[in-house]
Amino acid sequence: MIMIGPPGAGKGTQAERVAAERGVPKISTGDILREAIHQGNPLGLRAKSTVEQGELVRDDLIIGIVKERLNRPDARQGFVLDGFPRTVVQAKALDEILAGRDPLIIVEIVVPHDELVRRMTSRRICGECGATAGPADVKCRLCGGELVLRSDDGNSEVMDRRLQVYAQQTEPIVNYYRKRSTFRSIDGTQTPDRVADAMAAAIDSALETTRSSS
Ligand code: AMP
Repeated sequence: MIMIGPPGAGKGTQAERVAAERGVPKISTGDILREAIHQGNPLGLRAKSTVEQGELVRDDLIIGIVKERLNRPDARQGFVLDGFPRTVVQAKALDEILAGRDPLIIVEIVVPHDELVRRMTSRRICGECGATAGPADVKCRLCGGELVLRSDDGNSEVMDRRLQVYAQQTEPIVNYYRKRSTFRSIDGTQTPDRVADAMAAAIDSALETTRSSS
């Protein structure tokens, strides 16, 4: 399945929960890029300034990463993608990658602009390993490192730019998917537990659609 929603909508948090509940990997392109930047490997060096400016990394680069990841054995039984696709070109590439596999489930998380800005200004990651922290975390749950603001969140210009990039480049994918029987839209302004309930119901009803049509 994929999750669509603006930065700050809660995709990462919800993707993590769904992946744990359903026993499938969570694949976050933002996490992959942050890890690469943290390590300073070739991918990280190429992506660093783009990510820090709130722009999108080139389609061919990110599509290559996702293609390789989705073809690994642990993703054969399903996966939760977080942060991909972000453009119509990526959405079309994903359809090609998944040709012959079970239908994609698409969940859109809807949150109004003001609430997104509020959330983005308080979102933290681990300064040591780059993992995303939950709102109540004091230290990193993975490595015990200190938590810091995300470098692309702390700055209001970059935040505005990311919301603009979402509206211009990513929102059009909602129309690309909307007519599919496995498309669902949920209200992301509720508490994380409520959103998780809505998410589970959306996934189950979409799965039901795929079973009745096969
Ligand atoms: P995220 O953690 O999903 O908000 O992603 C953080 C940043 O990584 C984004 O602002 C982009 O610069 C980059 N990024 C993540 N996923 C993609 C993608 N699918 N296409 C292009 N850039 C991406």
